[in-house]
Order: sequence, then C-alpha cells, then structure tokens
Amino acid sequence: MEELSDEKALVAWCSDHALPADYVTGQLGPLTTMRTHCRSIVECLARGVQLVPDDIQAIEEAVRHPSGRLVLAGGGTSHASLCFEPRDAEEDEVAFEIALSLTLFLVRGDRHRLKLCASPGCGYAFLDTTKNGSRRWCDMSACGNRQKVRSFRSRFKATHAERQRFSASTVRKR
Ligand SMILES: [Zn+2]
Repeated sequence: MEELSDEKALVAWCSDHALPADYVTGQLGPLTTMRTHCRSIVECLARGVQLVPDDIQAIEEAVRHPSGRLVLAGGGTSHASLCFEPRDAEEDEVAFEIALSLTLFLVRGDRHRLKLCASPGCGYAFLDTTKNGSRRWCDMSACGNRQKVRSFRSRFKATHAERQRFSASTVRKR
C-alpha cells in the first residue's frame, strides 16, 4: 500500500485487489492508518515479537463494524471457503475486508511462516511455504537474484583481498 499517495491511487489499488473501490471516497486517511497498523502487525510477526495492543485493537474494531452474513462458497468442492457478505456496502468496508484477511491469517496458525524479504530496501512480506522454512526473498527472480549477485561480488572481493594479502606477505618474507 506504499503507493497510496492520493484517492485516485487508492481506487486503483482497491480495483487491483478485488476490493469495493466505490466506497473509498474520504477513506484515504483512515485506510492509511489501517495500513500502518497492519504493517506493524506483519513486522512483529516476522520478527517473532509480541504484537502491539494498539494494532490489535485497530483491526478488532475494523472487523466488528459491518453487518452481514456468513456464506459458504463452493461447499461441494475441494475449494470451499467461508465468506462474509456485508448487508450494505459501506464506507468502512474496505478497511473491514483488509482487517478481516489479516484476522483470518492470525487465527490460521502459520503466522511463524510470515517473513520479510531479506533484500535490502525491499521489505515485502511473504509466506514461507518451504518445508524447512528456508525462503529468504519475496521473489527469487527479482530480489533473490539481486542478492545472489551481491553476495557473489562480496565473496569475490574477499578472496581477491585475501590473495592480495597473501602475495604481500610472501613478498615480505623474501
Ligand atoms: Zn524482495
């Protein structure tokens, strides 16, 4: 949500994420606040530290708001899911949907798999689904490769420096 500079960007972001973009007028401020709380929760989870009570309270309040009903979608298939259908689309519905998806994640039990990308300056959050929990980058083709090139270069520099030191000491011995 970093790119939410104005309401137009917010509408575009909502459309991209299948959120009801029709109800976000005047919601940039509240949604930016919501974003800050969500990010704080994600960072705490990724670092394995205690969640901040203020952040929890913010998402608790957001999921409490709309009235509606629970709907079982695709009950007869292997992709069944439980959805919440708001009675009326309201202005706080986007905040509700964002808070709901984070809340559902919190109760899922695999919060320890949430990580932040190890690439400097990226900071993307991702779910590490590898068996041994070894994934370090949000995206192997982008951040992973950049990081590999960087560590190769620093390894190369190190061995190169060692070689220099070695030849310098050999010279001194003579
Ligand atoms: Zn990344």
